[in-house]
Amino acid sequence: LVVLKDVNKHFGDLHVLKDINVTVERGEVVILIGPSGSGKSTLCRTINRLETFESGSITIDGKELPEEGKELAALRSDVGMVFQSFNLFAHKTILENVTLGPMKVRGIKKAEAEKRAMELLERVGIAHQAHKYPAQLSGGQQQRVAIARSLAMDPKVMLFDEPTSALDPEMITEVLDVMVQLAKSGMTMIVVTHEMGFARKAADRVVFLSDGEVHEQATPEEFFTHPKSDRAKDFLGKIL
Ligand code: ATP
Ligand code: MG
Repeated sequence: LVVLKDVNKHFGDLHVLKDINVTVERGEVVILIGPSGSGKSTLCRTINRLETFESGSITIDGKELPEEGKELAALRSDVGMVFQSFNLFAHKTILENVTLGPMKVRGIKKAEAEKRAMELLERVGIAHQAHKYPAQLSGGQQQRVAIARSLAMDPKVMLFDEPTSALDPEMITEVLDVMVQLAKSGMTMIVVTHEMGFARKAADRVVFLSDGEVHEQATPEEFFTHPKSDRAKDFLGKIL
């Protein structure tokens, strides 16, 4: 579903992505893991075309992402993205946050958008708070709204960049539970996280990135118990 071929990107002199070759099948859940500064966020942003790249290709469902224009907006809505900071619209209610995209980008009527939004809010356990404003919710609740908002666009793939790292420990589980449930429902997911519990429960594959290069791709069991590369061993030694 998502195919990256020989993707290269620089920030000035910094070669931040080096010949990245990664394929994510439909329904697959891939964890992107690696040291700070290895290029995980850049890779996510590049897949969504929030960043440009110099060479190689990225296709989503067989289609190459265009550089700009209307087509980009349409294709980008196929790629949902959830960040560390939830970026909800502060002056809009939870329900409005979820219905805005479908109404504006997909041209869906208000009543229908609201019906679908309530189903999604139900799924992430926030339906009873639909008329509150983001500031009235906890961080974990806001992040679950951010997930519902992304899902409202009916994305083909969901990208998560450290979705729980800004949360208090007691709120991490509620967000991970929603993500595990989403993974089980068959959503294609690319997740930057150091949460081993999530990796073991929901991931099909771990992609280990270091210095902008993919050093290892393996199942979570293989990767966490028998990392092959020295860099992966070194990295796991620090985080486990
Ligand atoms: P972390 O685990 O800390 O989030 P990461 O793996 O997500 O790290 P990136 O944020 O992708 O790493 O950064 C990769 C490298 O690119 C880093 O050296 C970073 O300083 C650099 N970088 C990121 N964004 C920019 C930018 N907009 N301009 C210049 N350099 C950047
Ligand atoms: Mg990052």
